[in-house]
Amino acid sequence: MKNDEDIKKMATLLKSGAIMLADTCPVCGSPLFKLRSGQVICPHCDLPVVYLKEGESETIAVEPYILNKTKDILLKKLQQLTSSLDQDPENMSSYLALISEILEAIRDISALQGGAKANNGSV
Ligand SMILES: [Zn+2]
Repeated sequence: MKNDEDIKKMATLLKSGAIMLADTCPVCGSPLFKLRSGQVICPHCDLPVVYLKEGESETIAVEPYILNKTKDILLKKLQQLTSSLDQDPENMSSYLALISEILEAIRDISALQGGAKANNGSV
């Protein structure tokens, strides 16, 4: 869905010398823009888009979006588990096992996000 805000953003991008690409955002379907720096972004999601080249086919990944979404879901699950743990102390060990798995996954995601941040600007 394109709204006025998106159109305004797209106009600003074009004015700044960005190019509208034929590719669309894998998340929202908006047209993607290539900035003068070479970075490709989605004006709707306001996220950088990464192209993964594999042979002839080209896939687009929105890694930060996927990571944030996963982390968000995990954190919500963690919140649910914590309240279940409180209400159901007999099954504490199975809850704790799940909680520790979720925490580990969140740690992995944070590590990936940290790595992505460290690479910003160097390319
Ligand atoms: Zn998008």
